[in-house]
Amino acid sequence: AAGTGEPGAGTATHCPYCALQCAMTVTADPLSVTPRDFPTNRGGLCQKGWTSATVLTSPGRLTTPLARPRRDAPLRPVSWETALDRIAGELRGLRAEHGPDSVGVFGGGGLTNEKAYLLGKFARVALGTSQIDYNGRFCMSSAAAAGTRAFGLDRGMPFPVSDLGSADAVLLIGANPSETMPPFVGHLRRTADRGGLIVIDPRRTPTAERAALHLAPTPGTDLALALGMLHAAVLDGLVDHAYVESRTSGFDSAWRAAAAWWPERVERVAGVAAADQHAAVRLLAEADSAYVLTARGTEQHADGADTVSAWINLALALGLPGTPGAGFGCLTGQGNGQGGREHGQKADQLPGYRRLDDPAARQHVAGVWGVDAADLPGPGRSAYELLDALGRDDGPRALLVFGSNPVVSAPRAAHVQERLASLDLLVVADVVLSETAETADVVLPVTQWAEEDGTMTSLEGRVLLRRRAVDPPPQVRSDLDILHGLAVRLGQPPERFPVAAEEVFAELGAASAGGPADYSGISHARLRAGEALFWPVPDPTHPGTPRPFLDAFGHADGRARFIAVDHRGPAEQPDAEFPLVLTTGRVLAQYQSGAQTRLIRELNEVSGEAHVEVHPDTAARAGLADGATALVRSRRGVMTARVHCVPSMRPDVVFLPFHFPGVQRANLLTNPVLDPVSRMPEFKVCAARLESARPT
Ligand code: SF4
Repeated sequence: AAGTGEPGAGTATHCPYCALQCAMTVTADPLSVTPRDFPTNRGGLCQKGWTSATVLTSPGRLTTPLARPRRDAPLRPVSWETALDRIAGELRGLRAEHGPDSVGVFGGGGLTNEKAYLLGKFARVALGTSQIDYNGRFCMSSAAAAGTRAFGLDRGMPFPVSDLGSADAVLLIGANPSETMPPFVGHLRRTADRGGLIVIDPRRTPTAERAALHLAPTPGTDLALALGMLHAAVLDGLVDHAYVESRTSGFDSAWRAAAAWWPERVERVAGVAAADQHAAVRLLAEADSAYVLTARGTEQHADGADTVSAWINLALALGLPGTPGAGFGCLTGQGNGQGGREHGQKADQLPGYRRLDDPAARQHVAGVWGVDAADLPGPGRSAYELLDALGRDDGPRALLVFGSNPVVSAPRAAHVQERLASLDLLVVADVVLSETAETADVVLPVTQWAEEDGTMTSLEGRVLLRRRAVDPPPQVRSDLDILHGLAVRLGQPPERFPVAAEEVFAELGAASAGGPADYSGISHARLRAGEALFWPVPDPTHPGTPRPFLDAFGHADGRARFIAVDHRGPAEQPDAEFPLVLTTGRVLAQYQSGAQTRLIRELNEVSGEAHVEVHPDTAARAGLADGATALVRSRRGVMTARVHCVPSMRPDVVFLPFHFPGVQRANLLTNPVLDPVSRMPEFKVCAARLESARPT
């Protein structure tokens, strides 16, 4: 085993899954995982973390490259030379015939910072394509866009998680950490015990069970609720005018937009009692220490960016962001959800969270890459638009997928599957044979978390070092190695695409220098030494920036911006044909598309199939009993799920987890209508109906 060099001592690293990045020690012989004490997880792990070593040795693990000679032939083992030569040859041919944008790249929010960085550079330099985006577009792009326009900087949670431990009041909106990241809940215990936890969620989740106030709006009405709560703050004289005056701009226009949304009107639209809106705002305003936190439930909407802006407006009106002992933040979901959006795998960004259409940013990054800025492509399509364009006349004819499983995770999944099938070439680099890899022409097996070094940026903006603890299978290569091999075959100088994570990270730092997400002062050596480094870290002696907004926000004038937003409602409303509102989410025992966690017996014993949560009366009206198999149908398709009758569910809402494949895919039903600001699809609400799966 690699790692510390001390036999039996184990290697200090972090969980392969969510953005809490719980600290753990991995020992190689016998292979095991134990939690480490760390400020975020404080010695805790959830079921997924405890069982995470299983995927290292799972029979489902990919151990050799695979390829099919023809679309209708099965995947067969091939050598690395054969696989990489074939990919490079076909890419060269497509680019020569159809131009550089005939090749697309789809990345992932679970890739390390080094991989995300090199993937963006590979796309723009070795392929010269503008067609790159990643699954983080589906995760929290709307929160990122809202954070950028309000604060001038998207540092999802701009304070350490441990700050929450002394909060008197916390408002959680569309977040269910009791199931998505259980160790995080320890930071809310004091607040909950003192009656200060407020949860906004259409479902009575285990997190909502702990709340003093649970507000359950109709899915898709969060923006109206946020406007109503801002209105309540004004009516009740709870606005912090001194803060608004000294640290913000735009309050008047935001208030004018909210003025039409008095709490009684919001009660009719969102189904949340006006008295509860007033009570929630009062609890936040009167607390000595208060925080507002959003997550996917309120972000994954076709008005997601405006919805998050409305919550930020409320937090600004109460004087919370950038105030000691208070704040606004987003609970990022994917393991590297924060870092994954900073280093250039987004359609519109360069490393350092720079804009691709900014001439100065292009000049700087091109200088680090040793290329001409004029040769860098411009912004490309967002994730769903890229998938939707595959195989079309003006769309990519080849797609390289790294660390993502869009066959399960993309909205309107059957359509996405059709587009993937129309490609001339689909290449998937992954740890396991995901549902997307199953359909590929070439599959490349890659090293995973405990088999390689690399950095992740957690939900609190802290850069963490994952370290190699065990040796990978002999026929498996790092994504960095693959990008190097392909780049060289495409005519790039070998030194332009380094393969050592530490070297790639140093280059990433140089590319990010001077940008909003400045990593130039961070090194693997500082992280190995145990330094707690929150970006930005602009020089090697800089101690990091755990709370970036205490003195000033990221805009040039140092002020935060209120953004005037209005409620529009979801793109699809229930009607006679589809009378229910469908919303989607997670369960404790599975992660994202489930490609890794569905390989783990212990997790499948807890949650091994799709279920539909439904009120007993709603199930009965569809002729369904608890435990029956239901068909859930929307305008885009039908899927199968086991009925779970839950008396606390709203009778007009059904809930599906999105981790399961095949006919159990929740995303067969979801609506790909996009947020105009962030291009986030509307995962969290569409019209649906329930049917019995029994033949009639
Ligand atoms: Fe891993 Fe997240 Fe669970 Fe922690 S909470 S053990 S990081 S999946």
